[in-house]
Amino acid sequence: MAKIPINLSTGNIEKEEELIVGIDLGTTNSLVAYIKNGNAEAVKEENGTRTLVPSIIHFDEQENILVGDLAKEKLISFPERTIYSVKRLMGKSYDDVHNFENYLAYSIIDNDENALVKIQVGSKFYTPVNLSAEILKALKQRIEKRLKRSVQKAVITVPAYFNDSQRQATRDAGKLAGLDVLRIINEPTAASLAYGIGVDPNDERTIVVYDLGGGTFDVSILSISQGIFEVKSTHGDTFLGGDDFDRAIIDYWMENNQIDAKKFNINNSYKQQVRLLAEKAKTHLSGNEIYDFANKDFVLKISKKTFEALIKPLVLKTIDACNKALTDAQISKSDISNVVMVGGSTRVPVVKEMVSSFFGKNLNDEINPDEVVALGAAIQGDVLAGKQKNVLLLDVTPLSLGIETVGGLMDTIIPRNSKIPSKVGRNYTTSVDGQKNLKISVFQGERDLVNDNRKLGEFILRNIPAMPAGIPKIEIQFILDADGILIVKASELRSGVEQKIEIRSQYGLSEEEMGKMLLESFQHAEEDLKNRSLLEARNEANNVVLSAKKFVVHNKALFSPDVLENLAKLTTSLENSIKGNDKDAINEDMKILNEFSAPLAEKALDFAINEALKGKNIAE
Ligand code: AMP
Repeated sequence: MAKIPINLSTGNIEKEEELIVGIDLGTTNSLVAYIKNGNAEAVKEENGTRTLVPSIIHFDEQENILVGDLAKEKLISFPERTIYSVKRLMGKSYDDVHNFENYLAYSIIDNDENALVKIQVGSKFYTPVNLSAEILKALKQRIEKRLKRSVQKAVITVPAYFNDSQRQATRDAGKLAGLDVLRIINEPTAASLAYGIGVDPNDERTIVVYDLGGGTFDVSILSISQGIFEVKSTHGDTFLGGDDFDRAIIDYWMENNQIDAKKFNINNSYKQQVRLLAEKAKTHLSGNEIYDFANKDFVLKISKKTFEALIKPLVLKTIDACNKALTDAQISKSDISNVVMVGGSTRVPVVKEMVSSFFGKNLNDEINPDEVVALGAAIQGDVLAGKQKNVLLLDVTPLSLGIETVGGLMDTIIPRNSKIPSKVGRNYTTSVDGQKNLKISVFQGERDLVNDNRKLGEFILRNIPAMPAGIPKIEIQFILDADGILIVKASELRSGVEQKIEIRSQYGLSEEEMGKMLLESFQHAEEDLKNRSLLEARNEANNVVLSAKKFVVHNKALFSPDVLENLAKLTTSLENSIKGNDKDAINEDMKILNEFSAPLAEKALDFAINEALKGKNIAE
């Protein structure tokens, strides 16, 4: 229960000090931290020493819910009622995730009515947001019990590559758990804050954050200047982590007949038992040379040397991603001043050795790698509560955002890697006389044609007063907030008609998909350029045809039938070339028509001026 603090000397009710906690909502484990006497501290379990809450939720037959260690114990006995790795499903559709369905011991379902994935437990269905909310509730209860006060405000961390729908899902989970989520911040930014890197506004440096958790690997390059954190690049693998180290051990035990391969494949409970033993072996080998285990069911053995040889190819994959992140950020190893280690799997000695030797640097690994992100989030919470000044957090948007313009072209409004929050406005107009409605389709991606990019949403700006094509002044504003959520506003400035949408797309993008989109934009650059110039030529030529036709209607009386016939011929010829795919032919026909019509337009203008001046005297 919340308590009301009373100052005993004055008898006044004291206002509770503002508290904004930091939460790391992880794939494998989650935790909550706060600032105690000026230092960030992760909250331990009641009467215990552990700060990590396994991100696992169990539902019993009566639909009672267990979260954390108690739920983890049920992985063996009730695999189909015990949910793990829910973070992987956040903001995703069934289509996005069905290829790793095998990896899950519980059921995810494809529901046509709702594109977002749901999880089935018994006869009930849960969304990833519902499930994450249960983890957040458990964390909220933990800190409220510890501090004996209510806690409402939080900063929650997400991977740097999370898109807007995944961020929004995380925010919604917070809301469902009764939390006011003041900020969603990137995990690497939080980790660097925990090391105090960038807190001093005079600090200028570039750092690497290497995050190897249970199931995922991310590397981020951050550039820090004047208290501003900028994510220069991110790379990684959403299916690489400590679980793969465990699997390498399991495979080894299978090959050496230490476990029963057949039983492993058909018996879920045996499988989970082996999984937990492999994890035990792995953590043991972080501090010992050999793992030896025997009970009535198992006799297991593996040496550190063997383990290191098994996982070396996996660690090399992470090094490869580091290399790519450096290339993307156009930064060389010598520009890096710190390498911050995050995630439980960075405790493996060979991981540390390989990363340190690749960057040629000592590592920042003194802070508990499981807690470092939550501690940084707590520091950010403290900043937001106004207790620490001079720290401003800034991230970048990973893919360009823009709208569709005539001919299906992508017009980028906020380019990839722009700092967020960010606000950009651009003016457009109509292409048809009297156009009353304008459809605004918002896309994300790097390709020139919107068809090759990802649609985030669309809306219609209605009731534009009838005006000739080209006269309305339509301003489109993209406002990307600090959490990476996009608001698109469209207004017709002459009439004040306005419309806006908040983009909460249904489909999440995985890091692989994002990488794929970027790669494709490079691979298709030449073809895209060709397409773009063809479409641009067509758009321009259509305008020329339109003007030529209007010109004839208005100035028929001024020209001989011959001239008018010639003009009509050239216009038809341009119309024909527009139908083809030859950009040069379009440009050539457009040039001929323009050259022919320029003197005619001059003549028409002279005539109009003479008419206007008729009967008027120019004052001396
Ligand atoms: P995280 O997702 O950051 O919580 O990391 C969890 C992963 O770290 C799991 O795969 C754990 O098995 C692994 N882990 C935790 N402690 C150790 C350790 N001492 N040695 C090796 N791996 C560990």
